Amino acid sequence: MVELKTDVSIEAMYEAGQVVARALTAAQKAADVGVSLLELDEVAHDVLREAGATSPFLGYRPSFAPTPFPAVLCVSVNDAIVHGIPTPYRLRDGDLVSIDFGAELGGWVGDSALSFVVGTPRPADLRLIETAERALAAGIEAAVVGNRIGDIAHAIGTVCRAAGYGIPDGFGGHGIGRRMHEDPGVPNEGRPGRGMRLRHGMALAIEPMVIAGGIDTFHPAPDGWTLKTDDGSRAAHAEHTVAITDAGPRILTAR
Ligand code: MG
Ligand code: MG
Repeated sequence: MVELKTDVSIEAMYEAGQVVARALTAAQKAADVGVSLLELDEVAHDVLREAGATSPFLGYRPSFAPTPFPAVLCVSVNDAIVHGIPTPYRLRDGDLVSIDFGAELGGWVGDSALSFVVGTPRPADLRLIETAERALAAGIEAAVVGNRIGDIAHAIGTVCRAAGYGIPDGFGGHGIGRRMHEDPGVPNEGRPGRGMRLRHGMALAIEPMVIAGGIDTFHPAPDGWTLKTDDGSRAAHAEHTVAITDAGPRILTAR
């Protein structure tokens, strides 16, 4: 079931979204060669505490997970796509880092992610990240009243495939609101004109993921959470929480 949000609720979601934006900005700023993934988690946790917000990630345990998620930030490095658990690993020059963060404030949730390179970037990694961001922008542009979920999926998939990248099979965005994961699912590839029609008051987390090697397959790391590409190639992730309104899409996690 899809819960349509009132304009007041969308404002409250924006407040939650801005906590997410601040945490991601702070974690990206802190990320440097020699900094550990656990330190990035701590930076994001500080932003939550200062805002009086809580984490929908910490302790989260979906059906596939062997253990509750132990952190507030997902940090996925190089061939890790999403759901990376922060570890004592210290970032190295040229690492491609994807960070994903959620916050709950006043009963509403925001969810957003971005990717960047620490130190000296490889041109191929910059192109991968730029494509994930461009796919996200295309998906948001299609998130307008009267369109359908398939139009968002098609917009995202078209950008990723045109660049020659893989799209992790079965992963994508989701409705969001009082809970992090609500209906409907928002696939990262699909047919235009199909699926649920978009209405004023829907809120969606739109989140393209791209695999540099062009394959769509992945496997969990031994920790049971971190998803890694099957070919060892690098991956990038970009995500925003977006409200669909009669005035157009509104990015609630805008940085
Ligand atoms: Mg996320
Ligand atoms: Mg999400």
